[in-house]
Amino acid sequence: LLRVSNVRKRFGDQVALDRASLDVYEGEVVAILGPSGSGKSTLVRCIDQLESIDGGSMSFEGELLGFEETRGHLRPLTDAGRRRQRRRMSMVFQQFNLFPHWTVLRNITEAPMRVHGVSAAEARQRALELLERIGLADKADAYPRHLSGGQQQRVAIARAVAVRPRILLFDEPTSALDPELVDEVLQTMKSLAAAGHTMVVVTHEVAFAREVADRCVFMANGRVVEDRPADDFFTDPRSERLRTFLTRSG
Ligand code: ATP
Ligand code: MG
Repeated sequence: LLRVSNVRKRFGDQVALDRASLDVYEGEVVAILGPSGSGKSTLVRCIDQLESIDGGSMSFEGELLGFEETRGHLRPLTDAGRRRQRRRMSMVFQQFNLFPHWTVLRNITEAPMRVHGVSAAEARQRALELLERIGLADKADAYPRHLSGGQQQRVAIARAVAVRPRILLFDEPTSALDPELVDEVLQTMKSLAAAGHTMVVVTHEVAFAREVADRCVFMANGRVVEDRPADDFFTDPRSERLRTFLTRSG
């Protein structure tokens, strides 16, 4: 579904990604772990085209990201082309980024209606179903500030799912939450995984990665150092860096 090949990204002198490669197959849950500054966020932001890349390539559903083909020639994407490619992905951030002046329902229905051309009735129906699934049906008309952080993040996840993306990207979705609210969000993500969504999850939640991910990827210094089935990743880490990392993360 997604192929990231030797992607490089620099910020000034700082190398954020150094020939990072990653394949994600349909229906897979891939967890990305690694120390702070190892390039995890940069990688998912490049995939979502929030950052441009300096080298390498990425393809999604067989199409080169960042380019489009016209009459046999590859050209850099126009803004419209980029929006079209990004429509098939959804990203969930550490800070939930809900629109504060909109109700929960409107936060979820807006993108399907405005960007995906879904009718108001259909968008509303989908949103209510999603809210039901995450146990927040009674909050449809509430404003984000009246929800706990965990509830807000679950709404943000519902919003990401509402556009029916081919892939869901998460960047540390539980890192901004009080510890007692982390579980409800992980539970929501777990149910998405069980429903067959393709997910790439940057996370520090080692137990979650171990339980839910099919594959775990370890990044260090902008590189993908290990990429293994979740079981092997934890029981038989190959690199010294991962061994040290796992020992520290308990
Ligand atoms: P964390 O676990 O702390 O979130 P991370 O693995 O997500 O870390 P990145 O945020 O991807 O790491 O950062 C990788 C490197 O790129 C770091 O050295 C960081 O300082 C640098 N970097 C990331 N974004 C920018 C930016 N917008 N401008 C300058 N440098 C950046
Ligand atoms: Mg990060």
